[in-house]
Amino acid sequence: MREHNEMETIFLSVPENESFARVVIAAFAVQLSPTVSEIADIKTAVSEAVTNAIVHGYEGTRGMVTLRAMIDGTTLSIEISDKGKGIADVEQAMEPFFTTHPEQERSGMGFSVMQTFMDDLHVSSTPGSGTIIRMRKRIRRLASVGGTH
Ligand code: ATP
Ligand code: MG
Repeated sequence: MREHNEMETIFLSVPENESFARVVIAAFAVQLSPTVSEIADIKTAVSEAVTNAIVHGYEGTRGMVTLRAMIDGTTLSIEISDKGKGIADVEQAMEPFFTTHPEQERSGMGFSVMQTFMDDLHVSSTPGSGTIIRMRKRIRRLASVGGTH
């Protein structure tokens, strides 16, 4: 397998593109031979970040969302960025159950989901200019000796 690979996909901030982004990241990650559960984790984390960019970053207005992914050895790095409103207090936004939109029945669990399903998560944001979510996951290769499945 190739040691390094990268891709970038840019799409409009419409809800239809949440499932588009899930399919794109799954298609890229498959070259690492992830398990079904690892793929599900990656898709869910990306979907949460893309939904946030659409719902909170652009708040229903039109803007572009960028999904970048890189493979280095067995590590998958993902970046989701928007040029939307940004986050005033990142630490607070990342707390479980914190949401600025309780009236939309948001549970405030998006960042917690990303944190749980990925090995690490980093959020950088500038109010008025946008947000970048960086996350990484090490893909555990299936043992070639002694493994039973
Ligand atoms: P849920 O994800 O459970 O539906 P939520 O989106 O409110 O609810 P999180 O995904 O954890 O919860 O995000 C927490 C808060 O961080 C959001 O309510 C929003 O205020 C802010 N936020 C997250 N992503 C962005 C973004 N890309 N741009 C601007 N604000 C954001
Ligand atoms: Mg969310």
